[in-house]
Amino acid sequence: MLTQDILCKQFGISETVINYVLKQEAKIKSEYFEDIEKIREYNQYKVIDAMQQHRLDYTNFYWNTGYGYDDVGREKVEKIFASVFHTEDALVRPSIASGTHALYLTLSGILKYGDEVIAISGKPYDTLLTVLGEEGNEPNNLKECGIIYKEVQLKDGDIDCESAIKAVTEKTKLLMIQRSTGYSFRSALTLNKIKNAIEKIKEVYPNILIMVDNCYGEFIDTIEPSDVGADVVVGSLIKNPGGGLALSGGYIAGKSILIERIANRLTAPGVGKEIGLTYGTTRNTLQGLFFAPHIVSEAVKGALLFGAVFSSLGYEITPSLNEQRSDIIQAIKFNNPDMVVKMCEAIQSSSPVDAHVAPLPWDMPGYSDQVVMASGAFVSGSSIELSADAPIRPPYIVYIQGGLFYDHAKLGVMLSLQKLLNFDDIENKIK
Ligand SMILES: *Cc1c(COP(=O)(O)O)cnc(C)c1O
Repeated sequence: MLTQDILCKQFGISETVINYVLKQEAKIKSEYFEDIEKIREYNQYKVIDAMQQHRLDYTNFYWNTGYGYDDVGREKVEKIFASVFHTEDALVRPSIASGTHALYLTLSGILKYGDEVIAISGKPYDTLLTVLGEEGNEPNNLKECGIIYKEVQLKDGDIDCESAIKAVTEKTKLLMIQRSTGYSFRSALTLNKIKNAIEKIKEVYPNILIMVDNCYGEFIDTIEPSDVGADVVVGSLIKNPGGGLALSGGYIAGKSILIERIANRLTAPGVGKEIGLTYGTTRNTLQGLFFAPHIVSEAVKGALLFGAVFSSLGYEITPSLNEQRSDIIQAIKFNNPDMVVKMCEAIQSSSPVDAHVAPLPWDMPGYSDQVVMASGAFVSGSSIELSADAPIRPPYIVYIQGGLFYDHAKLGVMLSLQKLLNFDDIENKIK
């Protein structure tokens, strides 16, 4: 067959590997794909509806110069995001350089000197620790700005509401929840869990603010954290909501009074949201949002295939196949640094861009351990495109995410298996 031919001859994948992957694929297809497609369909309609409601029109893609007053495209983008997230307002800018920047902006915009923030989903994502001043001593970290930080660990993979409520003091202004796995080996928090926690906490402390780090979670479900009581949700446009087309940027969606404070931090008090050029990015941002429900569904299917193949070989995976997913990540525990690096090499070699280069562990800014990252992406650093990364530390877990198209993820699975044949007797296991 033509497909088998190109896989064998052009990509060097053996027939045994192809057949093994196809066998695993058959199982996940019949069990999980239909549910994923239902969510995709609903979200697609939600996005189109938001665009129509705000009368998106062709002239919104034009752009101007200077201060960016009356940048109609920018205003439309922010209104459309607010509609999709069902929030009063949103800040969506190409000048928000990353997810970390969006989270820092949110925290520093809302919190004042002496305020306390509590992470109630355990240790946050690596770069956030630097932002909070828990790691390193970077100028202008939140600790230096007088923000007090505390952490409440998860209990049995869920938010420990009792401990969270106990941890609140007079100074506590905001609780932060990280939806996604990050560099841990826990499952992403489902919207049910997030809803339950917010309800319980707000019952006791109705005025406390809840921020959700929504990175990697957008469009996995039919609702978002802002639909279950989060005051502000934050994410990156080079992950899920950018649909692979956004060139850069981040979003913050939430209550108007919060967005106003955050916008004043982004630009300046008095001008806030009213200025800020978008440099012609409106079309990519919105077409990316239009693509996002579909792209996310492709990424989830890809994650399932990675999970199916490597769990069938005896490796521990998070989330497990039958678990409800709440992000696009598939974590695989190899307990072996060489396998983690090999896996990243395989993902890199399956890419449309930079396939000929080999990823090496390096000291990435903001991270405390060396990190190896595979990303042969059209948009640099985009992790809604097929990518894999792993901090070089035991128990050597590789985090795989993205894949604009399921076929690409499938190629990544096959190449990974091919390159790992010599480890742990995999070659014989798949015969
Ligand atoms: C990606 C991510 C971030 C932000 O990372 P950036 O690389 O700065 O965009 C924050 N939290 C989580 C859970 C993430 O996955």
